[in-house]
Amino acid sequence: MRLKTTILAFLLLITSGPVLWAQQQRFPMPEFESGYQYPDAKLPGSGSLAMEYFDVGILVLLLAVTSWLAIKKRSRKWILLLMTGALLYFGFWRQGCICPIGAVQNVALGFSDPTYAVSWFIIALFLLPLLFSLAFGRVFCGTACPLGAIQDIVVVRPVRVPVWVRKSLGMFPFVYLALAVLFATTGTDFIICRYDPFIGIFRMGAEFHLIVIGIGFLLVGMFVARPYCRFFCPYGALLKTTSIFSKNHLSITPSQCIDCKLCKDSCPFDAIDHPTDPKVIGKMKDKTKHFLLYAALIPLLIVVGGWAMSSAHIFLARANPDVYLAHLLVRDPSVMEDLDNLDVQTFLGSDRTVDELVNDATAIQATFRSGAWFTGAFIGLVAGLFLVSQFVIRRRDDYQPNRGDCFSCGRCFKYCPVQK
Ligand code: SF4
Ligand code: SF4
Repeated sequence: MRLKTTILAFLLLITSGPVLWAQQQRFPMPEFESGYQYPDAKLPGSGSLAMEYFDVGILVLLLAVTSWLAIKKRSRKWILLLMTGALLYFGFWRQGCICPIGAVQNVALGFSDPTYAVSWFIIALFLLPLLFSLAFGRVFCGTACPLGAIQDIVVVRPVRVPVWVRKSLGMFPFVYLALAVLFATTGTDFIICRYDPFIGIFRMGAEFHLIVIGIGFLLVGMFVARPYCRFFCPYGALLKTTSIFSKNHLSITPSQCIDCKLCKDSCPFDAIDHPTDPKVIGKMKDKTKHFLLYAALIPLLIVVGGWAMSSAHIFLARANPDVYLAHLLVRDPSVMEDLDNLDVQTFLGSDRTVDELVNDATAIQATFRSGAWFTGAFIGLVAGLFLVSQFVIRRRDDYQPNRGDCFSCGRCFKYCPVQK
């Protein structure tokens, strides 16, 4: 296990290397023929760099203190206090923009486009929670993440979500992650940021539908605890994966579990694994054939997923502004006369020709074709692993937090009589 942890940490570090190496190039300024004057550039003052150091320092401090509170001190009260502070600072004061969740896209684009510079700050935001999760579980979700915090404080009457629903919906964050990487690497959009349901609440203003979605998540979250974290968050998919390998995860009881069952229903996120029923282990032995069958299906699912997504690449590529515009102008050239169409008029005001636009759009579509293949293959792999995991039972003799699903919130501590 220690070896796996070290290898994963090493992989995270070396794969971030090319991004660190990305050059500080800038796109050339567009030329206008309308007499437009560039405004005086407002360059970030030295305070911005200082703020970046400050924010990273706060993040490290939060992650370190939460790890200590969750694993050693075992204090829900202090975790709650830290979480509230982080919500006020990272959520409402910094307006949800110090965001490792969205940083996934910057890092992905940095890999695919060497002219896109990813700052050390973004890389630090992206890597720190993952490295801490590899060492101590999802301590970032426990306090530092404002999206998690805002959902955590509204949990009033959590209901148990049936296992099959939980498991099926639990695949979606991986799908969302794959799509976000596809759209980022093709330079199309940062969909995680565009559809962040809580940004409107943190900024006290956004498009109406985003506010409605944010409030909807909070209303649902009163009964289905942390719905965004559990069934949507793409960064949560990465944290879940690294946390499974965490060496020093928190435990429900400070010492030996006495199987009193008192903590059984204490977790609002259904993240406590029960001792394994010997009958279930017996049944699983009869399912070895199913396990082997589904394992053999994984390569097929990868190929089918890749083929299905790449077949949809033209549809997916329409989300790219250049591809969309090229289709529009080729299909209906008269749209160039439409003075109210700002997209078209902005394009006509630039020095690109329609032919150049069409060539660029064709190249982007080709990138989508290969990118969509990998996206579909990844989704096929996740689906295959999900199916196989239905036939894998880990023997447990006591109640334990599920390392992938536990948010390190500390709620279950007080239910354990050993702790008392
Ligand atoms: S799952 Fe995602 S949204 Fe939830 S706390 Fe973790 S990082 Fe934040
Ligand atoms: S610490 Fe983990 S297992 Fe315990 S209540 Fe919180 S999320 Fe559930």
